[in-house]
Amino acid sequence: MTMLLSLEKIEAFYGPVQALFGVSLDVAEGEVVALMGRNGMGKTTTVKSICGLLPASRGISFAGEPIAGLPSYRIARKGIGLVPEGRRCFASLTVEENLKAAARKGLWDFARVADLFPRLAERRQQKAVSLSGGEQQMLAIGRALMTNPRLLVLDEATEGLAPVVRQEIWQAIDSLKRQSGVSILIVDKSLKELGQVADRGVILERGEDVWTGRFSDLDAETADRFLGV
Ligand code: ATP
Repeated sequence: MTMLLSLEKIEAFYGPVQALFGVSLDVAEGEVVALMGRNGMGKTTTVKSICGLLPASRGISFAGEPIAGLPSYRIARKGIGLVPEGRRCFASLTVEENLKAAARKGLWDFARVADLFPRLAERRQQKAVSLSGGEQQMLAIGRALMTNPRLLVLDEATEGLAPVVRQEIWQAIDSLKRQSGVSILIVDKSLKELGQVADRGVILERGEDVWTGRFSDLDAETADRFLGV
């Protein structure tokens, strides 16, 4: 299988404080991989390292090329679209302006994003600041898709949202998987929903990967031990 993204024993630091002590994971073309672990175990740090938001000197390759150490805008241009924790959008721009500002050539355009999230089409002239939390999350995903990424990285895309809105986001992720073929690395705490979309999973514990496997092979004992569920 050709790997689109490969991390080989990456380490990461916040100043003098080491947060990752050797994380390895792969995402193949068209695959959905869940990155799991309890709070503070290194999921967001791994995401930031992949996207160039934290210095990582080696061990990361994308589409066969080393990317560790590149600035984040160059990593984004290579085809990694990040939906960061906290769903950052331009508050004073409208939905449509937010989406168009992110646009790069490819299959994804305003119409296709509007198809995936009809609510964004309804609110196209509204400023992002006036959207609900769920709509802002949809906008953040839409923005990442407008860059036409080969890999979409979702960090806690459903956190803090009402159950009905979470369901809409999961449905969108499911249809992305079925219809677009984009590879996805997803951080989330909902095992049940992850189980419906993820092909494989990786569990982090204190900055190291401690379990990797097909999601369907994640047994109750492992989930209980490392995820506390
Ligand atoms: P959560 O589910 O709570 O978001 P996480 O698995 O994403 O957790 P990280 O945010 O990656 O965990 O944190 C990994 C470790 O790095 C933790 O020990 C955390 O305290 C530390 N850390 C995170 N951000 C910083 C920072 N800005 N400065 C120093 N240490 C940090």
